[in-house]
Order: sequence, then structure tokens, then C-alpha cells
Amino acid sequence: MSFTLPDLPFAKDALGRFMSAETLDYHHGKHHKAYVDKTNQLLGETGLEGRALSEVIRAAKEQGNKGLFNNSAQLWNHSFFWQCLAPPEGQKPTGKLAALIEEGFGDLDTMLAKLKEEAVGHFASGWAWLVLDGDALKITSLHDADTPVAYEGMKPLLTLDVWEHAYYVDYRNERPRFAESVLGNIVNWEFVGKNLDGEGVSRADQGERALTEA
Ligand code: ZN
Repeated sequence: MSFTLPDLPFAKDALGRFMSAETLDYHHGKHHKAYVDKTNQLLGETGLEGRALSEVIRAAKEQGNKGLFNNSAQLWNHSFFWQCLAPPEGQKPTGKLAALIEEGFGDLDTMLAKLKEEAVGHFASGWAWLVLDGDALKITSLHDADTPVAYEGMKPLLTLDVWEHAYYVDYRNERPRFAESVLGNIVNWEFVGKNLDGEGVSRADQGERALTEA
């Protein structure tokens, strides 16, 4: 069984000016799809076929198989990223998530400013992350394709893709404006809150293990 490109969880024009249909055509339809195809192609040489995506990522890292790690990790990272987004309807964190944000950062604006700072300050390509570290929220970033899936105890809640392909069409080279627009308007806080159960990795997983656990 090979991995597939997950559908976007919203209509291609639903994010309006914050992330255009043209960006999604390229970012989801071409970049994300290329990671899927390349992962499937590389898998054939490894004996890992039929394993869940999360297992392939961890095995590739262990074996030092950089090509497979980079492509499979990017497949997962993007599958998670799309779920972190939702049409701009004034959504805000609620319940336990809102409480943890207040506890860790004082308020939502301060947390978003810190996440933006991490995203903007990250040198070259990578991903800014809000993760659950023990019982507390933590902001961090990972380089290139690197992913929380590969780290024991790093529980992903929310991510922002800061590869240039994520923002060049809509924001040109202005990563700060991209980060502020996306984080301030089109975050799916319901999804972020759900990930407080520590099961975020499984929500962008696919393949055998993901199916049997569902
Ligand atoms: Zn991307």
C-alpha cells in the first residue's frame, strides 16, 4: 500500500486573502504531492512498505536514510499543517487550551507574538511549532523537514510552515507579514485544542498502524 495526498480539510478558496487558492494549488497540489510521490518511490528500496507513515519517519531517521526521512517527514508535516488552518471566522482558543495559554504566556496575543518571533527568526527553511512539553505549552522550531514525530515526548499542537514556498505567492519575501496574517486569522483552534490529548501525531499519520488504531 502506498501513501496518498490527503485532501485539504477546507475549500481551496476558503482561506481568502490570507492564503490564496493559487498558493494552495502549488503548496498542496505540487509541493506536498511531490513529497508523497517521492516517499512512495523511496519506500520500495527499504523493506518498510506497509508500515505507518510515523514508523517510516522514525525508521528512516534511525537508519540515517536522509532522502526518505526528509520526504516522509514533509509528507506528515504538511498533512498536519493543513489541519491547523480554518477559514477566518473569528475563532479563538477555548477551554483547557485557553487556560494553558494564559498560564504559559499571559494571553493569546503574547503567545502568538512569541510564535511569530520564532517563525520569523528561524533561519532558512523549517517549521515553527507550538508543542505540549510535559504539562506545559512550549514554542520551538525545527529545521528543514525535521518533525516532532521523530522526538520522543514532543507532542505537536500547532505548526506554521516557514519554507518560502508557503508564502512567496501571497506575501512575496515577507515572512513576518505571512506569519502574522496566518496566526492571527486562520488557525483552527479546535484542532489545536484536540491535540492536547497527546495524539497529534496520529492525526496526520496514515498507513497500517493508523488504520488499526482508528
Ligand atoms: Zn510547505
